[in-house]
Amino acid sequence: MPSNTSAPAGGSSAGGSAAPRKVLQGQKALVTGANSGIGRGVALALGAAGADVVVNYIQGDEAANEVAAGIEAAGSRALTHRADVSNESQVEQMFARAVGELGTIDILVANAGLQRDSPINAMTLEQWNTVIGVNLTGQFLCARAAVREFLRRGVVRSVSLAAGKIICMSSVHQMIPWAGHANYAASKGGIMMMMESLAQELAPRHIRVNGIAPGAIRTPINRRAWETPEAYASLMTLIPYGRIGEPNDIARAAVWLASDESDYVVGATLFVDGGMTLFPGFATGG
Ligand code: NAD
Repeated sequence: MPSNTSAPAGGSSAGGSAAPRKVLQGQKALVTGANSGIGRGVALALGAAGADVVVNYIQGDEAANEVAAGIEAAGSRALTHRADVSNESQVEQMFARAVGELGTIDILVANAGLQRDSPINAMTLEQWNTVIGVNLTGQFLCARAAVREFLRRGVVRSVSLAAGKIICMSSVHQMIPWAGHANYAASKGGIMMMMESLAQELAPRHIRVNGIAPGAIRTPINRRAWETPEAYASLMTLIPYGRIGEPNDIARAAVWLASDESDYVVGATLFVDGGMTLFPGFATGG
């Protein structure tokens, strides 16, 4: 059992002061849900690794502009774009603008997600449809638009060994059932099978599709699981590594999956969870 049950303020050994390697130099990325939490961390890390980044968000202009400023401070270009990933025409318009202004898209991180928690007997159809619509259908719509662009362009070997990379943000709940969150767990299980099916379908076209399954990461989506010392101590009983994850823990995994350093990784889910999935059936948060 982990002994560290205090809530460290920034916890992770993530980051550090060394300048990041520009492993994504010359590439163009689009990150959905990029003005908060994990998506914010991923967008900043892709920018620091040399990619120009489209910062998608649904609300919060100021937060999106702050992420864009961080990307530009690292020397990459950033575009902010407000769009609902569950809306087909808004997704199409977003990709058209991205390709129009940046020339192409090489990397999609389909990250936007939300929860509408309820016991099943009280769950409304709206709660069900909202979660499936954003978390699963949103990833389908963005993946389809990205794949069309990857196929149009093909491989440009001076940029990347692949014609494109898609990273689907899943969750430990793609494999761990989550009582009281059937809509969320169903969306993440769906993401896993969609990701693996796309990976199989698109590998012959040199498009790599992979997933990341975060455990408990310190973001607004699961604030209740970490914001009090009691909640944090309870969370720690589920995490062998003895600390909560930080957005940068996920961001570094995303940079690797987006880069040619993972060129032979196809259809994999990378669990970034401090060992939480070693306790199946007990996970909470995210
Ligand atoms: P968050 O609430 O901080 O961020 C969610 C982001 O999604 C926000 O930027 C929000 O604006 C965006 N978003 C929501 N609805 C949208 C829509 N319709 N269109 C476009 N953007 C929309 O949460 P987070 O923890 O950063 O979550 C990011 C992803 O990571 C989600 O898919 C979530 O399921 C997953 N995840 C999080 C955890 C965790 O512990 N935080 C664990 C596992 C998986």
